[in-house]
Order: sequence, then structure tokens, then C-alpha cells
Amino acid sequence: MRDVRSRSRAIAITAIEAVLFDWGDTLFYPPDATAVILAAAREHRVAMSAREAQALWRELWDAGKTPEEVASGRDLSREQHRASWTKLFGRADARVPGLSPRLYELMDPYRWTPYEDTRPTLEALRTRRIPTGIVSNHAYDLRDVFASRGLRDLVDVFVLSFEKGVAKPSPRLFEIAAKEIGTPPERTLMVGDHADADGAAAAAAGMQTYILPMWSGSGPRGLAHVIELVDGPRGARG
Ligand SMILES: [Mg+2]
Repeated sequence: MRDVRSRSRAIAITAIEAVLFDWGDTLFYPPDATAVILAAAREHRVAMSAREAQALWRELWDAGKTPEEVASGRDLSREQHRASWTKLFGRADARVPGLSPRLYELMDPYRWTPYEDTRPTLEALRTRRIPTGIVSNHAYDLRDVFASRGLRDLVDVFVLSFEKGVAKPSPRLFEIAAKEIGTPPERTLMVGDHADADGAAAAAAGMQTYILPMWSGSGPRGLAHVIELVDGPRGARG
């Protein structure tokens, strides 16, 4: 895992003039898949503990984040998204019959929830007149998802893989994002949860990066550190 603190010191060298965010597991978190797995297991009279259900979900979720899956093209269209995730979740059908379509329903972004520090962080950047953007591998129009949460006006640009025809970890998506948000890559901070897709790929496009530590499962995501990074160079500059 990237050494966040040493990276933070490196970031202070150049002022940050815009902040880009990944979406999933960075600004929004998924519904409780464990509860869905346990409910399906009960219905099919499959013996399964909460711990086993958690482990099964973790196994599937981690499998969905491998370089091969991320680069599979699943986020270039709704059809590819469904086919790819249903196939991956299908591994669990042997344990609990009929589970994969129910797990796929959890991928609906309208069912995801903003972390408690998502809005305050976006508002703090707005107060500082720092433009913000979303760079996401996604097959849905996230503008409407943000609008449904009252967050649409806090984001300036949406750079979505299915609209651009290119997905992370291609640096191309970040190059497009820098152009659309109007700041040089070296003065743009990319914030995400995936060391390769959000970190190495954005760095390859010349951006500064901040990869969030794993979430504890409750409370804030840790996004306040983004404001510290933004204020650091601004303070030094002023
Ligand atoms: Mg993510």
C-alpha cells in the first residue's frame, strides 16, 4: 500500500488547484451485501453464519478489483457491466442458489450511500473555490445519482468511462479529466481507494494522488485529509 504520509509531504511541494474523486468506495459506499447473502441463504435453507457471509462478500468484492476485472471493459456499457458482474457473482450461486442476480442489484448506484464526510468535503472545496470532478469507471450516469442526493451542484465535471469509451487504469481518462476541469495535471489531485486504477494511473498522467486507507465500516471515510492537503500548499503560497 502507498505510504500516504510520505506522499502527503510530496504533495505539499505543488499547490492543488483542482480535486478529482473516484466514486465507489471513495465518496459512496455499497449497500449491506452480507444481509442480502444471509437472507438468500435462509430462503434456500443453506446453513451460513454472518461471518461466512461476510467472507463470501469480501472474496467476491476483492475479485472484482483485480487488474484483469478492472480492465475487462465492464464499465464501457450497461450490457458489459451486467454480463461481467453477473458472471463474477455467479461463483457464489454454487453456495447459495440464485444469489448472483440479487447481488447484481446492489451494483445499482442509486442504492449506494454517500459517506458522512462526502458532503462536508465537497462543500469545503466549493468554499475554497477549488473545482471538483468525478473520474469513475461506471456504466451509469452518476450526475443523476449525485442529484438524487442533493450533491450535483458541488461537482463541476463528471468524467465517466462509458461516456468517454476509455476506463481506468488508462491514464487517458485522467488526461481528459484535467482538460475538462481546466487545470494542469501536476496541480490536480486525484483521490481514490484503488492504488493502481486511481493512484498509479493518475500519477502516469502527471497528477498528484491520494489513496484513502481502508474504511473501518462506520464513521467518516477520512476525506478531511483532502482539505488538509489543499490548505497546506495554499497556506504556504499565501
Ligand atoms: Mg473505487
